[in-house]
Amino acid sequence: MQAYKIGSYALVVEPKRCKGCALCVYSCPKQILFLNGSGKIAVKEIEPCIFCRICEMRCPDFAIWVEKALTPGPSPVMTHGRGVA
Ligand code: SF4
Ligand code: SF4
Repeated sequence: MQAYKIGSYALVVEPKRCKGCALCVYSCPKQILFLNGSGKIAVKEIEPCIFCRICEMRCPDFAIWVEKALTPGPSPVMTHGRGVA
């Protein structure tokens, strides 16, 4: 599992759950997602991410989601599971 953080938000990916269907890749309005050499979800660059949750809603295997930190700052405390709004 890997978390890409900007401010109080994070995009979290869990490649072990990913089956490589690419639904999220084609749905992302910022085109920042891709499948790596192993056919698993990966993030090109996090800066353009607007944390819209489209990838989260598209993924049938809960392998990518957005989390909001409970406290803002450089080391936010992450929520568990698929996160809260
Ligand atoms: S939250 Fe939105 S912009 Fe960010 S990776 Fe997912 S679909 Fe793309
Ligand atoms: S939608 Fe889910 S299972 Fe499909 S490529 Fe994206 S992260 Fe992997």
